[in-house]
Amino acid sequence: MSKGIKTSSLGYPRIGKNREWKKLLEAYWAGKIDEQSFRSQMEDIQLQHLQTQQQAGIDLIPVGDFTFYDHVLDTAAMFGIVPARYGYKGGEIPLDLYFAMARGNAEAPACEMTKWFNTNYHYIVPEIGSLTPVLTANKPLAAYRFAKERAGIEGKPVIVGLYTFLKLSKGFPAADIAAVAARFLPLYVQLLQELQAEGVAWVQIDEPAIVTGLTAEDTALLQNIYSEIAAAVPGLNLMLQTYFEAAEPLEALLALPVQGLGLDFVHDGGKNLESVARLGWPQDKTLGAGILDGRNIWRADTDAKLELVAKLLTYVPQERLILQPASSLLHVPVTVEGEVKLKAAVKNALAFANEKLAELVLIAAAANEGRERYAAELERSREVLAVFRALPERGREDVAEQVRALAQLPDRRSLPFAERVKVQQEKWRLPLLPTTTIGSFPQTAEVRQARLKWRKGVWNQERYDLFIKRQIAEAITLQEELGLDVLVHGEFERTDMVEFFGEKLAGYLFTAGGWVQSYGSRCVKPPVIYADVAFIEPMTVKESVYAQSLTKLPVKGMLTGPVTILNWSFVRDDLSREAVAGQIALALRHEVSALEEAGIEMIQVDEPAIREGLPLKARDHECYLNWAVKSFRTATNHVKDTTQVHTHMCYSEFNDMIGSISAMDADVISIETSRSHGELIVSFEEQEYDKGIGLGVYDIHSPRVPVVEEMTSAIERALRVLDVQQFWINPDCGLKTRGWEETTGALRNMVKAAVLVREQH
Ligand code: GLN
Ligand code: ZN
Repeated sequence: MSKGIKTSSLGYPRIGKNREWKKLLEAYWAGKIDEQSFRSQMEDIQLQHLQTQQQAGIDLIPVGDFTFYDHVLDTAAMFGIVPARYGYKGGEIPLDLYFAMARGNAEAPACEMTKWFNTNYHYIVPEIGSLTPVLTANKPLAAYRFAKERAGIEGKPVIVGLYTFLKLSKGFPAADIAAVAARFLPLYVQLLQELQAEGVAWVQIDEPAIVTGLTAEDTALLQNIYSEIAAAVPGLNLMLQTYFEAAEPLEALLALPVQGLGLDFVHDGGKNLESVARLGWPQDKTLGAGILDGRNIWRADTDAKLELVAKLLTYVPQERLILQPASSLLHVPVTVEGEVKLKAAVKNALAFANEKLAELVLIAAAANEGRERYAAELERSREVLAVFRALPERGREDVAEQVRALAQLPDRRSLPFAERVKVQQEKWRLPLLPTTTIGSFPQTAEVRQARLKWRKGVWNQERYDLFIKRQIAEAITLQEELGLDVLVHGEFERTDMVEFFGEKLAGYLFTAGGWVQSYGSRCVKPPVIYADVAFIEPMTVKESVYAQSLTKLPVKGMLTGPVTILNWSFVRDDLSREAVAGQIALALRHEVSALEEAGIEMIQVDEPAIREGLPLKARDHECYLNWAVKSFRTATNHVKDTTQVHTHMCYSEFNDMIGSISAMDADVISIETSRSHGELIVSFEEQEYDKGIGLGVYDIHSPRVPVVEEMTSAIERALRVLDVQQFWINPDCGLKTRGWEETTGALRNMVKAAVLVREQH
């Protein structure tokens, strides 16, 4: 207690430096190791994560954030929330039942999975329904004991707060939330009382749902929950933890009877500091100040952070200030150590989880003991940042000039849709209800092996190009045989729709080990935008032109859109996301021109991830959507009237987005629908949409070949709401995860369905 400001960590990445956690899970699922060995190896990993944080010098080390799959699933399992279909009879949850909920088994499908707020992490959605919760185990207590016994760590148990847990769950009417909360409250109380009895000092209660916005009922519910809990555990310090955006209204949160409040001072747009400045900080509370970005990979500006700390100290005395990352470090990779291939100027500017902990400890030490004592470390940090910031590729005058020039041009197509659709009909002469696909064809083992051989240098460029050409030629022949109207080249040359472009654009770098968990054992390695993004040379023209040379039918050029590229990358943080999206859009605009000049005049620009960047508070949606739409238009609005711009989106939850989608002004959009067909069509009953549109007529996530009637009825259903002149027929999404056999079968039936429905009109 003597050292003044303390440090805390809110959560540590689970996957391990070399993804050993992932590998262990997959080995267990594959039956390669038994449960006992699985558990003991998991303990080793858990212990190692604890010790890493201990050695970094963190004062409050989280326990209970470690999991075998997902922390929300852990919480549901802990409270016995197991849907009836799994045949659970009570008691502790067996490991295989736990994994069945996450992944499904022979008898029962998995629980739904969805995005964790505005991150790319996905959690398992608890299905509460009419289930009666029971405390099947005290997971944070077990984790606390583990840390104490095995590492001598006095841990800080982490739990998902009741308010957030219920907001993320399904199976009850939203209006009943207070009644459902009443069923869980005694269990939360019991869990916390057990922690209190054990002698725990601080508990971190994660309530990120607070930042999505609070109604009067929400505030009342929070007040109820925390009054009851606080009264039952007077000996425990409760840190009510928010993150990802500003906590508003702060007044309401400061009124809760908890000992600490954790705020995000990185992703709050400056609002949290404003609120603290306006309201002051109460005598009875500790501030958990999230000062380091827990979701991005850049080294912190230690001088700026120390200024922030100094400012906070004008409101909060040092013994009640805890410095921490702004969120769990779950969203960043483990360590920069292995990045030996990056040039030093860039590598030194990176900070993954371990490096962030070191920064945090340094900042706290400098704040506690004076900057002079740490002058050398602070100076090094300053130098490294200065070198990074001065890299010429981060401040390209040519890019700035192009951005300025573009701002002078009209932000629209030269003809409005109603007029250009006529010239397009004239040019393309497509049949009624044209058929097409979304872009990719099966990425078979053969395709993946060929790419590997080429990457390793076993195959030279020529040999690889030839291989890709053969794939394209086969795909074109097949599509002609199937009777599709608008063809694609098949995307055989692409591993990933963002990585492919990242590798060809200026401003990107690729890490060796920058993995983060996406869901379960699945990890992704997002490419990194570290400098100005710019077009270098045509990226997709070669394959598209070749494909087009083989057929008289139109072949769509295929690009990934600016917002999707942005949302699936780690992005530099010295420019706004809007500005970076603008640079990507500009680069894609060049590619669109290159395609058009090469005779490719149907161009699809995919934006499957446009929704992923939506801010958490509804009031901020419009601003985001405006610039997201603008960047799509920047990439596409300069084409000829006759050039047909397509786009594709992978989700169907967009009742609130039809206006924005329409504003993108694509001539044709294809949207995935299989997971909520009914709902999606209803959106179009309620709102006008006049451009070309294909609502996926079959689900590509299953290898099942849908029969013709299924698809004719999906089409007929859509045609009750949408005009036959505007409707397109296509699958839900790209076919790269499918095999050829089912792909051919499904597309054959799709074309038959189109022909049948055409005859009716
Ligand atoms: N054109 C891409 C494909 O077909 C689109 C992928 C996606 O929607 N995520 O694979
Ligand atoms: Zn898709």
